[in-house]
Amino acid sequence: MKECVFCSNIVSGREAFIFYRNQRIIGFMDKFPVEEGHCLIIPVKHYENIFSIEKDVYLEIQDLARYLSRALMEVFNADGINIGQNNGECARQVVMHYHLHVIPRHCGNEIRWDRVRMSQDQLADQARRIKDALKRIMDH
Ligand SMILES: [Zn+2]
Repeated sequence: MKECVFCSNIVSGREAFIFYRNQRIIGFMDKFPVEEGHCLIIPVKHYENIFSIEKDVYLEIQDLARYLSRALMEVFNADGINIGQNNGECARQVVMHYHLHVIPRHCGNEIRWDRVRMSQDQLADQARRIKDALKRIMDH
């Protein structure tokens, strides 16, 4: 099997800007965001996509997305949130490890789907701000 970049870089913590982690799921900054604040949520265990992921971990990811959406509205002063997820190569799934995109949107700012450049420092700062907001929202 081809090496999975999410298993080798994110689950391992080697190259990840993580804002949420428990034993089953991880939330982190997309290194190649289409908008500022573009986040991903993945299961710790390697499931390829919607066809193989287990129900409990799937639901836990959706639940985090619900809290994360509120955190992103606050941290990035967003006007809306896109949540999306690709399954299979013909559906443009590139990394074959289930991942949910959560993307803050601003009115009048169309996504062009080309990537926005973010420095390591910016990504680290965003992850820290999301982590703080998320903790506050989830504790409530
Ligand atoms: Zn993987």
